[in-house]
Amino acid sequence: MSKAKGMLLVISGPAGAGKGTLIDLLRDWDDSFAFSVSCTTRGKRYYETDGKEYHFIDDETFDRYIQEGAFLEYAVVHDHRYGTLLSEVEERIAQGKSVILDIDVQGGLAVMSKAPDCVSVFIYPPSFQDLRDHLHKRGSEGEEEIEKRLRNAHKEMQKMGEYQYLVLNDELERAFDRIKTIVCAERMRASRYLPTVPEKRESIEN
Ligand code: 5GP
Repeated sequence: MSKAKGMLLVISGPAGAGKGTLIDLLRDWDDSFAFSVSCTTRGKRYYETDGKEYHFIDDETFDRYIQEGAFLEYAVVHDHRYGTLLSEVEERIAQGKSVILDIDVQGGLAVMSKAPDCVSVFIYPPSFQDLRDHLHKRGSEGEEEIEKRLRNAHKEMQKMGEYQYLVLNDELERAFDRIKTIVCAERMRASRYLPTVPEKRESIEN
């Protein structure tokens, strides 16, 4: 049997569409997925841990990483800087592991052009009201920040046709089923996995 190539899974979608929850479910379902921890210059939220959700860095360090060519992509999102470190991605993919990127549309488009064999998924809500409700319920942003995210949501959704897969998150379990379907189908792509079929069935150990 030949070894499958790792999958670079790009997940985008507006704030409040449920990306984070769906990514957590995906990682629980299949622990071969690694999460790429991005760098950001935004402040840490009370429930976040440095190195887990993000590497929280200052502007100077962000500039240095750009100069050193450490990023696969970087962008300004909701007035803060975010970047995907090559070191979170390259080695794992080369080892045949799969990596999830939770990045905005600017970053998603940049990764699609740099790594055309990535799998791109855009998660969208049933309505803008759903996004608004979700952001209020989450309670991590004030009214002004919520409005900013809703404005960005309109912009992001104009670009969703650039993604390979569009997943409606009308209900969590249903949305998760859709993502699992994508992952299962992508794993069977011939470009990812070319099996060698033996004359006789190989004995199954254990
Ligand atoms: P938050 O600050 O709410 O965690 O994330 C804000 C937005 O930044 C989300 O849309 C998230 O997908 C995006 N984001 C997180 N990390 C990166 C990254 O490394 N690059 C880009 N381009 N966007 C990112």
